[in-house]
Amino acid sequence: MDNLSKCQRKYAMTQVKSTNTKAEIYVRSLLHQMGYRFRLHRADLPGKPDIVLPRYKTAIFVHGCFWHRHKNCNRAKMPRTNIEYWEKKFKKNVSRDRWIKNQLEFLGWNVMVIWECELKKKNELKEKLEEIRYVVDSFSYRKAADNKKMYIT
Ligand SMILES: [Zn+2]
Repeated sequence: MDNLSKCQRKYAMTQVKSTNTKAEIYVRSLLHQMGYRFRLHRADLPGKPDIVLPRYKTAIFVHGCFWHRHKNCNRAKMPRTNIEYWEKKFKKNVSRDRWIKNQLEFLGWNVMVIWECELKKKNELKEKLEEIRYVVDSFSYRKAADNKKMYIT
C-alpha cells in the first residue's frame, strides 16, 4: 500500500473527478465578489474548463496539487510505495493538462491554473484573479492574432 490511507485515497479520487468541488465554488464566489461574469464547465472547449470568463477569453482550472502535480508544493509529495503506479498515473494527468492548455491557447484562450494550496492566501489569490482584467486581456488578443497568422501561412 502507499502512504495515503484508503480513506484519503478515496477522497483524492473524488477530488480529481468531480466537478463543483469546494475549491471551485470558493474561486467562483471570489470572482463573483470581484464583479466577473463567468460560465462553468463549457463542454465545447478542450478540457471542459472549470470556469470560463468569455469577456477576457480566459479559462480557469482549479487543480488539486496532488493529482495535477503542483511543482515544489508539499501537497504534491510523491507517495513512497507503488511508485511506478503513481508515476504512470501522474504522468498521464500532467500530459493531459499540458495538451488541454495547448489546445485552448491555440484557440486564442488564456489558461489560468488556480492551485488548491493558493486558496489559503485569499489576498494573493485575489491579486492573481485581478490580473485577468488587466494583463491577460491584451495578451489574449495578441495571441489570437498570432494564431490567425498561423492559419494564413
Ligand atoms: Zn500546491
